[in-house]
Parts: sequence; structure tokens; C-alpha cells
Amino acid sequence: MNAIAKNPVENNEVTFESEVRQLVADQRDYFQSNATRSVEFRLAQLMKLKELLLENEDKMHEAIMKDFGKSKYENQLTEFFPIIDELNISIKNLKKWMQHRSVKTNLLNFPAKSYLVPEPLGVTLVIGAWNFPYNLSLTPLVGSMAAGNTTILKPSELPAETSRIMAKIINGNFDPNYLRVVEGAIPETTALLKQRYDKIFFTGSPMVGKIVNRAAAEHLTNVTLELGGKNPVIFHKDAVLKTGVKRMIWSKFVNSGQLCIAPDYALVHKDVKDEFLKLAVKEIEKANFSPENHNFVQIINERNFDRVVGLIDPEKVYYGGTHNRGDRRINPTILNNVTLDDAVMQDEIFGPILPVMEYETIDEAFEIIKGIEKPLAAYLFSDSSTIKERFLQEIPFGSGGINDCVMQVTNPNIPFGGVGNSGMGRYHGKYSFECFSHFKGVLDKPTAIETNLKYYGYSEKQLKVIKALG
Ligand code: NAD
Repeated sequence: MNAIAKNPVENNEVTFESEVRQLVADQRDYFQSNATRSVEFRLAQLMKLKELLLENEDKMHEAIMKDFGKSKYENQLTEFFPIIDELNISIKNLKKWMQHRSVKTNLLNFPAKSYLVPEPLGVTLVIGAWNFPYNLSLTPLVGSMAAGNTTILKPSELPAETSRIMAKIINGNFDPNYLRVVEGAIPETTALLKQRYDKIFFTGSPMVGKIVNRAAAEHLTNVTLELGGKNPVIFHKDAVLKTGVKRMIWSKFVNSGQLCIAPDYALVHKDVKDEFLKLAVKEIEKANFSPENHNFVQIINERNFDRVVGLIDPEKVYYGGTHNRGDRRINPTILNNVTLDDAVMQDEIFGPILPVMEYETIDEAFEIIKGIEKPLAAYLFSDSSTIKERFLQEIPFGSGGINDCVMQVTNPNIPFGGVGNSGMGRYHGKYSFECFSHFKGVLDKPTAIETNLKYYGYSEKQLKVIKALG
């Protein structure tokens, strides 16, 4: 089993696949022994994970710095804090979440109690994406552990150092029958996906999401897909521009735009577009993106660097547009007078480019958004309650914000997830527990009283009573 964690790529495919098969079988046996079910076990494992992360914090900061130049400040804010917060919330609330949840009993079943019993699903596979490699692997893992499952975690292979350190910390300290990190790229993930799980939790692109969903369908496995899309941000003519643009610029360029819920493109009312553009430049310059300021993350690899640079149409550059391939850094860039035909509007950007499109009526802006696949997030800057309500009613999106961007993800009481092409299912806080649980519905009847309504020997009188109960 060690070979799985240490050198997956060196194993030949047959060996790797048989080892994975064995790992899944061992985890299933362990799960079926009931070892993971008690609240004491779950809490002990969650606390152990928290302790290990805190002990290894510095090493984890160093690893992500090596992978793509992310400073410990940004790592703390966008990776470490959310994971520790998720752990704290789970540890604090687990007992409550595990309780039976009472629901009303209908008259037909009276007298009885009705309730839902959360039960763990079994063996889970969690596949992470690269852009927040710790957060997107460990936050779902916390949900899986809290819900009482065993877990195989496959972090993204692109940030190699962070994948390695998660494997080292977890595989060196947890029983593999309960929790195992399996490192690897497409061949290893393909081998993992051939096995039968009770839950697959995937974060990544819609394209790979379809591959995962097809593999899950083979075994009718429960799936959560956390995918991406083109997230719109609207600046209506009544928006408070100064504060709004400041909030939006941070959200767009943090992690160099490699954030699934970053605003992808801006729709700006024609009356305020000039002011919007001036303020946007001012905010970018104020932020002074540079490695010395710890706020200028590299693009993850050269393939993505070339892809993002290829989206910059020099004729539309309003600001920025410069880049350095050796360093894999692209300066924050604004494109103006963008149309739906431009390359930058064909797919999710996932990089530090902000295309700006102008609109005259809010219907026009809504029409553009509705013409694109349902986004993971959508944002509106406006002071008008009518426009806000129309935005909420007419625009489909996973999660979003009014007069702010991205920060909805930091509130664990707001479920996080997409809709349509941007995903299915939701997690964070208690929603993570629910995501990795099945809720058994139970009708619990006393035997002292028996109503004879349902039994044969139907009569007109019975019919009247049943009708009255409906
Ligand atoms: P990706 O889909 O390329 O990779 C995600 C995972 O799938 C990785 O672990 C990778 O090893 C594996 N994988 C890649 N190709 C595979 C294949 N052919 N078969 C099996 N497994 C494969 O995504 P990415 O590049 O890591 O991340 C970027 C995408 O993820 C963007 O679309 C972004 O919006 C989305 N994303 C979504 C969220 C969210 O929470 N909804 C968060 C971050 C990123």
C-alpha cells in the first residue's frame, strides 16, 4: 500500500489498479466494522487532523510558495483559515448534527413519531483541484470525516509540493483503512474512478466533471460536482462605484484570478463605464501586485500561462496586458469594449484578465448572462431594490453577492455549490455533513393503538374519513 502514496507514477498500471482495488476493499471492510460511526471516533479524528495541520503549518506555507509563489499571508487567509474554521465548526456541532431530526407526522399515520437519521455513506473518494490545493482537498475531507465515512483523497497533481506534503502528513498519521491520500495525475485518477465508492466528491472543470459523473453512473454512486463557469459581475448605473470597484478588484485578482468564484467578466452600465474603468485602474495600482507585497501569485504552469495570455487581444487592452513567461506571472489586465465573439468570452478565464462589456438596459445585461451556461457565482452592484430582486429572481447561479464578490464563500452558513454546468450538490459547515450523509426517513409507531383505516373491507365510511384526512 505504501507504493500508492509514494510513487504512483512509477508503478505499472496493473499494479497500481490492483493496489487501489485492495485499498477500497480494505476501507469498505473497515467501514463495515462500524469503527467510524461513533461520535467519539469522529471527534478524535477531526481533532487529530487539526493538530497535524497546526503542527505543519510552516511546512505547508513553504510548499505552496514553491508551487506557485503564494505567500504565507494569502495562504493563511484563503486556505488555512477556512480549513481550520471548518474543523472548528464540525468539532463544535458534530453531536448536534448526528442527532435524529424530528419531522411532523401526518394525520393518516397518527399516532407515530417521524424522524430522519443521518448515516455515513461508506467509502468516499475526494478529488481536489489545484487553485486552492489545501482548501479544496481538506475542506471536503472534513465533511467526509465528520459524517463518519472512510476517505481516499486525491489532491491535484499540478501543485506537486502541496500534494506531497498532504500525503506525508496524512499517510504518516492515519490508518490507511480509514483515510489515505493517493497522489497522481490522469492515469491514477482513471484507475481510482474504476472502483465502486459510496460517494465521489469532485472539484474541477466541467469537462472532467463529466468524466467523473460517467464513472460514478457505472455504480450508481452518489456524486457532488464542484465545477466552474463564467461568473458575471454587473455594475448598474446606481452602484456605489468607489467601494464596489475596490471590492471587485480584490476578488478578481486575488490568486491571480485563479479562483472558481472570481468575477469572470464585468457588465457595466454605459453611464458609469468611464468612471468604473478609471477606478478599476486606480485600485489595481493601489494594490501594487508584486511578489514583495505577497499578493502576486504565479500562474500554475506554462500551459495555463499560454492559455490565459492567448486570451489577451492587444487591441482591446485598456490596462496591463504585460506578462513574463519565465516567472509565469501575468499583470492584472483590463480589456475594454469586449463583445461576446471575443476569445476571452468563449470559456472560463481562470486568470488575471477582466473583460468589460457595456450595456444600456438591465434586460440586455440579463440576456447576456442567460445566454451563457449557468455560472457558479454571480454578483450585482446596485442600490436599487427592484434591480436586486430581479437579479435574484431571474439569474441562475450557485452562490453570489450583492454589493460584494467572493466573500459569500467565507460564511459557513451559506451552502457552497454550483447549478447546471457549474456543478451539483453543496457543502461547507453543516451542509458538508449533509453532503456526505444519507438521511434515513423513519416512521416510528407505538403498538398500543391500532387504527384500521388501511385494511381491507373498504367501506363508504372509510372512504369519507380518508378523503377528510387528505
Ligand atoms: P481539472 O478538472 O483539470 O482537474 C481536477 C482534478 O481532476 C485533478 O485532481 C486532476 O488530477 C483530475 N483530472 C484531470 N483530468 C482528468 C481526467 N481526464 N480524468 C480523470 N481525472 C482527471 O480542474 P483544475 O484545472 O484542477 O481546476 C480548474 C477548474 O476547476 C476550473 O474550471 C474551476 O472553475 C474549477 N474549480 C471549481 C471549484 C469549485 O469549488 N466549484 C473550485 C476550484 C476550481
